[in-house]
Amino acid sequence: METRKKLEILADAAKYDASCASSGSRRARAEGGLGNTEGMGICHSYTPDGRCVSLLKILLTNYCIYDCAYCVNRIGSDTPRARFTPQEVATLTMEFYRRNYIEGLFLSSGVIQSADYTMEQLIETARSLREEHLFGGYIHLKAVPGASEVALALAGKYADRLSANIELPRAGDLVQLAPAKTHEEIEESMSRIQFRLLEAKDKTKRNGKRPFFAPAGQTTQMIVGATSATDVDILTKSTALYEDYKLRRVYYSAFSPIQHSAPGMANEKPPLVREHRLYQADWLMRFYGFHSSELVTEVNGNLSLEHDPKLAWALEHREFFPVDVNAASKEALLRVPGLGVRNVERILRMRRFHKVTLEDLRRLRVSTDKVRPFVVAAGQGPANPDAARHKIEEKLRQPKQMELFAAAATARTGEL
Ligand code: SF4
Repeated sequence: METRKKLEILADAAKYDASCASSGSRRARAEGGLGNTEGMGICHSYTPDGRCVSLLKILLTNYCIYDCAYCVNRIGSDTPRARFTPQEVATLTMEFYRRNYIEGLFLSSGVIQSADYTMEQLIETARSLREEHLFGGYIHLKAVPGASEVALALAGKYADRLSANIELPRAGDLVQLAPAKTHEEIEESMSRIQFRLLEAKDKTKRNGKRPFFAPAGQTTQMIVGATSATDVDILTKSTALYEDYKLRRVYYSAFSPIQHSAPGMANEKPPLVREHRLYQADWLMRFYGFHSSELVTEVNGNLSLEHDPKLAWALEHREFFPVDVNAASKEALLRVPGLGVRNVERILRMRRFHKVTLEDLRRLRVSTDKVRPFVVAAGQGPANPDAARHKIEEKLRQPKQMELFAAAATARTGEL
């Protein structure tokens, strides 16, 4: 099969992985126009410092011996198949890099023969890039569930980041939909990677020189909406994974009903805004001190689709407000809708020298319209959370506001 055809198949098959923000986009191109968003295999991601980088995102092969019901590449699917050799992927990466199309590689694969054999193929690609082509760019490799400790150790030697996908939040769902995988096995891979990361950190402390092992850490992905699992199930699992394996990120990927899906699978995509709310809630849990159970305000265990989780929490807990910006603790300020971590730090510094007024907040570029109902500042009258609710609800009901908001935010959520 021609390289171009293989690339078409394997780039398209990789688009279901959520680690890159621009994957899965569809846009019609005018006749004679330029640009293509579908199946091209180049996606954009963001480094933790906000830099946008482009990656060649492909599968080594979409042949797979497993039968995960939600996956287009499962053994029972009649999707067209292709396979690259490690050398072909290394050459393609270098050619694209030299043409300035990409800055790195995101490589995953269907499972062929066994977990270790597949992992060997991924490692060989990364090794060839690093040692034969002297490629110094970014490489993200998938950790195949069930891969041995030796294989994972080698993968981390060549890759900047590793990711073992947890797939579904509830162990029982995985048994039902992906019988060849278990949470125990996937978490065993995470635990092995974490052990190597800690070992590298420890050696750095002792010798002063950091041994190369996946310096960008590990991530995972969870599929949203393929089963009846609620947002609280998803967020509870994420919290446990962050705590147990110190993951850099959990990615949430809205289930895409696929042409070749297994019988009985959902045939509707969950609303994109649900995926976006999960990213917001995840952020609040990691940086704002919220617990998953606090954020889920709906009776059905899901996040509000109408309001962002922080605002939804504030509207449910009006007794908590107003918060005095001149006296409240850092934890309390972090719960004010419209105040971000950086501005809370600035307020805490500022109030050591003088009383903070609304004008000061404005100077910090805080939206005073948004925070005013929830705070008391120097020289300001009493707060009114009811007025806030009304104002914000009005705003959110403007046509297309929600979709635009979700699309913009989804574009920001891809991080390497
Ligand atoms: S292991 Fe499962 S999810 Fe991964 S490619 Fe194979 S069928 Fe798809």
